[in-house]
Amino acid sequence: RAKAAGGNRYEIADPESDERAITRHGLTTALPAALERGEFFIEYQPLVRLGDASVRGAEALVRWAHPQHGVIGPDRFIPLAERTGLIVPLGRWVLEQSARQAKVWLEALPPEERDTPLRVNVNLSPAQLHHPGLVADTVEILERIGLPAGALCLEVTESALIGADEDLLKPLRQLAEMGVHIALDDFGTGYSNLANLRRLPVGVLKLDRSFTQGMQQHPADPVDLKIVEGIVSLAHSLDLTVTVEGVETGAQADHLRRLGCDTAQGWYYARPGPPERLRELSLADAV
Ligand code: C2E
Ligand code: MG
Ligand code: MG
Ligand code: MG
Repeated sequence: RAKAAGGNRYEIADPESDERAITRHGLTTALPAALERGEFFIEYQPLVRLGDASVRGAEALVRWAHPQHGVIGPDRFIPLAERTGLIVPLGRWVLEQSARQAKVWLEALPPEERDTPLRVNVNLSPAQLHHPGLVADTVEILERIGLPAGALCLEVTESALIGADEDLLKPLRQLAEMGVHIALDDFGTGYSNLANLRRLPVGVLKLDRSFTQGMQQHPADPVDLKIVEGIVSLAHSLDLTVTVEGVETGAQADHLRRLGCDTAQGWYYARPGPPERLRELSLADAV
């Protein structure tokens, strides 16, 4: 009701309103049972190589099919799961489902294309990074499912790694040494200095959507173009690949391709959807 009447203004103007608080509380207490009852599901959004628009993999994005409220997006419940610690079993579930799905995709490729560098990207919360079982759980899941480490990419936000000490980086380093790819998500929204990148066991920069937004208008914002050009050249000089989020138009894709970005993700290519959709997007053609 509040939503229909006031839209976002209501929520922003009064984020601590009783109604929001009750909902938040209600959602928080419902989380553990939701996991047990299997109310979570995963949508996959293709990651596309900018050069030829071939599908290189997909990002796993979790959703909650709430019996009363309908489908709830992760921005609303991940922070709650994070605070209560449920993110650890929930994140493990997402990782396991995604690894199984990646295995299905890989096996669907014709034998001569099995070593196609196809990946599933899975988001990691700060609480998962701090959890001592991260490396062991990940290894166990990959081995049990028989998924090569190189088919997994873990996404960690830039803000989660700001000021990270060696203790926090160690599990990521171990995973990277095993061949798991590590991506720095929402890059450009935090405050990390670029030189800091050298210290992180990261192979992929995911440029935040805010950078691609300035390329939507005609002509594109020249400052945005310069900034992205600079980030790409720095990233490439450090042997990092660059993925861009939130590509919504062909014009953006053209700019980003010209600026040397490697892969892209966004509504222009495909919205997040069920795993079968990735096959329809002719994964098998993608070589
Ligand atoms: P993210 O990792 O940065 O994921 C990208 C978000 O951008 C997704 O929102 C995706 O649906 C959305 N998006 C993709 N293409 C476009 C586009 O062209 N335009 C616009 N406007 N948006 C686009 P979503 O699915 O709502 O997920 C939000 C965030 O929730 C994710 O941001 C990620 O931080 C978190 N999240 C999702 N799944 C998980 C999970 O399994 N575990 C954890 N820890 N976090 C998750
Ligand atoms: Mg992500
Ligand atoms: Mg992101
Ligand atoms: Mg983002």
